[in-house]
Amino acid sequence: MKLFRIAIDGPSGSGKSTIAKKLASEYGLEYVDTGAMYRAMGLKILREGISCEEGPVLDELLDRTTIDFSDGKITLDGEDVSALIRTQEISMMASDCSALASVRKKLDSIQKEIGMTKNVVMDGRDICTVVMPDAEHKFYITATPEERAMRRYKELLEKGEDVNYDTILSEINERDYNDTHRAVNPLRKADDAIEIDTTHLDIDGVLELIKSKIEFAGNDA
Ligand code: C5P
Repeated sequence: MKLFRIAIDGPSGSGKSTIAKKLASEYGLEYVDTGAMYRAMGLKILREGISCEEGPVLDELLDRTTIDFSDGKITLDGEDVSALIRTQEISMMASDCSALASVRKKLDSIQKEIGMTKNVVMDGRDICTVVMPDAEHKFYITATPEERAMRRYKELLEKGEDVNYDTILSEINERDYNDTHRAVNPLRKADDAIEIDTTHLDIDGVLELIKSKIEFAGNDA
């Protein structure tokens, strides 16, 4: 069977997951949020109180950890942790632990397995470059750090949270730096991915642009 897979990479807060969910419902694909997998791993490391570094303690923890993303839910050792992984603390922990080769190896292999057999839209930082380099459609979605911080700031304000724009911007810059400078699978645009700069576009504008690229390429890409 010919697969129909959309791979999306891009920095934190670029709107990847919102777009990915909409594309999934538009084309009847399964959505896989790989960031949620790194977040679940960050949660596990925090809960166990181990330090975020390579070594036998981490290896042992990885051996007894199961992570799965399906039906829009992230499960950690069978527990639905979707509601627990969106805090700033977990964001930073996910960013730190995603630099570790052993963590990436484990999560990449789970993601590759899914991408080999299913029609999916998968978003993350190394989906076009490492996890599904042979995906039928590949996109790199970005926006300026200031715009991404402003979107996040407004989103948190709407939730009634007490937030500071400068703190959010500096966290976005820190996560960008971590993502692009790690030794293993750093964030970069795959040579054959289509770059979409969303700085001056709303979600519907981005969606229409991506759909037009997919439909132009057809499913023979
Ligand atoms: O996308 P999200 O912000 O939820 O991802 C959480 C963290 O996981 C990111 O800061 C990034 O460092 C890491 N990540 C990654 N590779 C992926 C997905 C996420 O390194 N494929």
